[in-house]
Amino acid sequence: METNTAATAFVYHPDFELHDTGLFHPETANRAKTVFERIRVSDFAQRLTWLTPEKAATHWIEKCHHPDYVRFVEDSCLQGQTLLDAGDTRSCPESYRVALLATGGALLAVDSVVEGRSRNAFSCSRPPGHHARPADAMGFCLFDHIAVAARYAQQKHGLKRILIIDWDVHHGNGTEEIFYEDPSVFYFSIHQYPYYPGTGAANDTGKGEGEGYTLNVPLTTGCGMREYREAFRNQLIPAARRFKPDLILISAGFDAHREDPLAGMNLEDEDFEELTRMVMGIADEHCQSRLVSILEGGYNLNALARSAEAHLSVLSRPTQDV
Ligand SMILES: [Zn+2]
Repeated sequence: METNTAATAFVYHPDFELHDTGLFHPETANRAKTVFERIRVSDFAQRLTWLTPEKAATHWIEKCHHPDYVRFVEDSCLQGQTLLDAGDTRSCPESYRVALLATGGALLAVDSVVEGRSRNAFSCSRPPGHHARPADAMGFCLFDHIAVAARYAQQKHGLKRILIIDWDVHHGNGTEEIFYEDPSVFYFSIHQYPYYPGTGAANDTGKGEGEGYTLNVPLTTGCGMREYREAFRNQLIPAARRFKPDLILISAGFDAHREDPLAGMNLEDEDFEELTRMVMGIADEHCQSRLVSILEGGYNLNALARSAEAHLSVLSRPTQDV
């Protein structure tokens, strides 16, 4: 399999805007569009391949979510329900279709990378996914796109070991839960703690056959790049060496940015360049650079767009310059 092409795939659909969360909700309709519009005029835009996803087939969603839950989301949205959980996961009649499109974006990104049409890929989608539980919507998330993408990479493309790196400021409780007893998917999360959603303690390390395949790095409020760098160097990179992934997926939230209104971490725009470089180093070492990144959180639109631009600028850099 030849994966050494220079191109980075950028996956986006204008309909991501149609998932309406109502007034005063931080997960605003224009989040993905704002990132897309910034990247489109970036000085590396010509290095990107632009892809438009289709809806994921529900049988792929059902690899990670109960069929009854998938029906519940579909029915609730089509009936015009505006809330899918007891908290803040809003919906509108279009939300089911848009959530399927967002999962479809993650699957298309996997296809592009695994089939060697791009070196890496970024799915610029919404709503986010990593809080969605097997049978419950949660934390603005309907379906866990990255979890479905991991199963898809295994079952469609025959890859064995998938490493998920979740640098969203919130712990990805949904992703952790889905793979907690599964040694074929290694889940690494670095997050503010204690904080929403309350999970992600350092001693939660997996269960049964999955023991040792979950690695949580909880950080107190106010941490910055020094702590992230240490965690990546001293915990993530050695764990990846032991695990030897065939593909790396990033839950790329940008809400650990200093300017994010929902959290209290202190990352700057350029810190996302360094995080990206470190993950690319792991991908170069273990899996022929195969790397798929999926947008999760990030709620200051300006900081979100700048951080995503920093991330993409490194992903799309020609190999010798990284
Ligand atoms: Zn988040």
